[in-house]
Amino acid sequence: MSDCIFCKIAKGEIPCKKIFEDGEMIAFHDITPMAPVHFLLIPKKHIQNLLALEPDDAGLAGRLLLKARELAKELCGEDGARFVINAGRNGGQSVDHLHIHILGGRALGWPPG
Ligand code: 5GP
Ligand code: ZN
Repeated sequence: MSDCIFCKIAKGEIPCKKIFEDGEMIAFHDITPMAPVHFLLIPKKHIQNLLALEPDDAGLAGRLLLKARELAKELCGEDGARFVINAGRNGGQSVDHLHIHILGGRALGWPPG
């Protein structure tokens, strides 16, 4: 997707505050943090959102969740974290490339404001 911001970040065409990268995913700090720790984990492959995930993506999806867990433990500490995946307009998705928000560093209320 040539006009997708997150594809451009994945290719290194737009700078980001990178936390982790391997061949199939990249994690970077959110440009508008909503908590003391707020970063995004995305697959490099352009998948529009969780609703567009295909059975063939099962391995990738599992590895993304495990990496989200690992990075949350590292960056958010002992007290837990919030994992958020917005999908579609009603889900509040503004960037149409699958991403997991990982937030922490303070107690986050529920339901979210
Ligand atoms: P969504 O609303 O789609 O779930 O989340 C998109 C997130 O991407 C937002 O939290 C927004 O702040 C973040 N974002 C949008 N553009 C950029 C960017 O160019 N760089 C970074 N690091 N984050 C971005
Ligand atoms: Zn994309």
